[in-house]
Amino acid sequence: MSDKPGLATRCVHAGELANAAGSPHTPLYNTTTFAFSSTADLLDVVEGRRHGSLYTRYGLNPTIESLETKLAALEGAETALAFASGMAAESAVFFAHGRRGIVCIGDAYGGTLKLLSGLLPTLGIHTTFLLGTEYDHLAEILAHGVGLVFFETPSNPALDVLDIHPIAVLAHRHHALVAVDSTFASPVNQQPLALGADLVVHSATKYLGGHSDLTAGAVMGSKTLLDPLRMWRTDLGQTPAPETCALLARSLRTLVVRVERQNATALALAQALTRHPRVRRVRYPGLPDDRAHPIARVQMNGFGGMVTLEINGTCDDTVAVMDRLRLFALAPSLGGVESLATQPVTTTHHGLDTSERARRGITDSMIRLSIGLEDTADLEADLVQALA
Ligand SMILES: *Cc1c(COP(=O)(O)O)cnc(C)c1O
Repeated sequence: MSDKPGLATRCVHAGELANAAGSPHTPLYNTTTFAFSSTADLLDVVEGRRHGSLYTRYGLNPTIESLETKLAALEGAETALAFASGMAAESAVFFAHGRRGIVCIGDAYGGTLKLLSGLLPTLGIHTTFLLGTEYDHLAEILAHGVGLVFFETPSNPALDVLDIHPIAVLAHRHHALVAVDSTFASPVNQQPLALGADLVVHSATKYLGGHSDLTAGAVMGSKTLLDPLRMWRTDLGQTPAPETCALLARSLRTLVVRVERQNATALALAQALTRHPRVRRVRYPGLPDDRAHPIARVQMNGFGGMVTLEINGTCDDTVAVMDRLRLFALAPSLGGVESLATQPVTTTHHGLDTSERARRGITDSMIRLSIGLEDTADLEADLVQALA
């Protein structure tokens, strides 16, 4: 490898452990514990004089650590921690760095909003919520000593894009940290740390896993910022199983080819949908006249595999379109090889009341597509027949 191998090379090679059998991949150490030759040897590891494998829940298992080296390399981070789910990753960020208060900007995943507004306040961790368009209130909130700015970009389901760099500059001026949930972008389309964020969070269940067959999460950043997360992960038992880590490492080796293909198909479908008479609006950051495009063009290397459209019609008309889809599966989640469709008002944003949905720009006629790896022509044909 050259000094600075490209992303695809890092996906394949970073973190892979040399091993006696000559396997090109890190073996799966499917064990919960590791044996030592003597008490002195064991104490060297327990007391930190030597780094070694010890106990899987501590993350001290070569399969987990090998995955974490790969994950760190994908975001250009000093280090990474793997988690048992995206929510486990996010909760560790909030526990470790949210105690001076959190600002959440824009739309976020339903589970994240629920955690921030439901359970965390009962532990004294409070969040102020700002719409993406209320960015001008950020300085005023940060002036009160809030310690963590958190947001997703692109956001769910409207695919709005927040400008990471200026938010990071403002947050740092107020001694706050910035954590970006980059799940929708994946490391292929966006590198938040290079734009000034302190932490990147992923639901690895989505693009990183990419096959709808594993649940995991990841946080990337500096060792100083991740050390407190490691303590929460260990004590709350949020560490992923070694089998999941081996499966995730397997998936990451093909991340770039998958996401680049998903980007290309999503753009082609977004363009086709724009021309369809039954479609009122298409949201895709790669469309030149999309309101997210000016920032996305500068901030992103690709525009992602998610497309959101609004049809001309009522909620019932939208349900009928959803129910006519054949190739697109009617399922929440995203980022897998198979294309999925959801109607946000019946799934991800079902719990919100009408006025809150309206405030967030979520309409009854909105359909969110996660583009998989099928042929573009087949996906387009399915959309056309469902819209007919
Ligand atoms: C799915 C998702 C999560 C939660 O991830 P899980 O792996 O389901 O816990 C968090 N953020 C975003 C943006 C997601 O799409």
